[in-house]
Amino acid sequence: MSDSQTNEADSILACEECLAPAEAFAVVGNETRLAILEALWELDRPAAFSDIRREVGMADSAQFNYHLSKLRGQFVRKTDDGYEFRAAGRSVIAAVLSGTLNQDPRLRPFEVTGECVDCGASLVAGYEDEQVRVRCGECGRGHGSYAFPPGGLADRTREELMDAFNQRARHLSCLSADGVCPECSGRMETHLFDTRDDPDADLDVRVEHECQRCHHTIHSSVGLVLLDDAEVVSFYRDHGIDLNAVPYWTLEWCVTDEHTTVEQVGGDGPGDAWRITVTVPLEDERLVVALDDDLDVLDATRRPCEAA
Ligand SMILES: [Zn+2]
Ligand SMILES: [Zn+2]
Repeated sequence: MSDSQTNEADSILACEECLAPAEAFAVVGNETRLAILEALWELDRPAAFSDIRREVGMADSAQFNYHLSKLRGQFVRKTDDGYEFRAAGRSVIAAVLSGTLNQDPRLRPFEVTGECVDCGASLVAGYEDEQVRVRCGECGRGHGSYAFPPGGLADRTREELMDAFNQRARHLSCLSADGVCPECSGRMETHLFDTRDDPDADLDVRVEHECQRCHHTIHSSVGLVLLDDAEVVSFYRDHGIDLNAVPYWTLEWCVTDEHTTVEQVGGDGPGDAWRITVTVPLEDERLVVALDDDLDVLDATRRPCEAA
């Protein structure tokens, strides 16, 4: 049995009419066909043949029909109301709008909310290589970085960009921790690494999520995966704070391991049967969250803060 047959038997994916990726790219690798997809997106509804042709600005009806027919099936479908996107057509437009295919902007470092967890200086953010990076303006310590498609910079001020970055980074980290790849929706596996002996590491425990399909990899702290945990969110709510609106790079328990302890409770290898505790301090209380090595929350307990 070939590999592809094995995969087919194991997976819920059964597709007899799927296009090979190279064929699909060949279909849309044409100026007129991309223009047709953009016209459909602009028209924002099932559209008549004549409306799309007018939007594309193509006089030759036979030529236009030829290109439209190439898109039918995988990218566009015809309904009683007119032509509309299939998911593949929409994702081609999403890729164009994201700017990832053809843009490479940069932003010089600018000041953002928060103070360095090591030296107390102001934090700055910059944009390069399709990543937003937050770091200390003085000592350079990293406070968070995450991929951000260039299209997301359009129509946003720096402040709005950082709000969007905050939402994107926390949601996609939590999605990864829940086992779904933010890039391809493939299966994401989480591994923990003990980095106490690594002098270059900012954290003692590094969390790595890796997609088993596209190998997209995300590094994070243990704290970051707790940002959507119901106990943590309601702990903040009970103190009158909407955790979702707090920039994650300003939360010490997300950025450092000062509040994280790790003990090995079984197994031999690194990462085997670890029990991890993250203590989230807030005003007069602290929330002590215990996790296993899959980063599933085992227990969350509120305790008064010890007197200083
Ligand atoms: Zn610093
Ligand atoms: Zn993936």
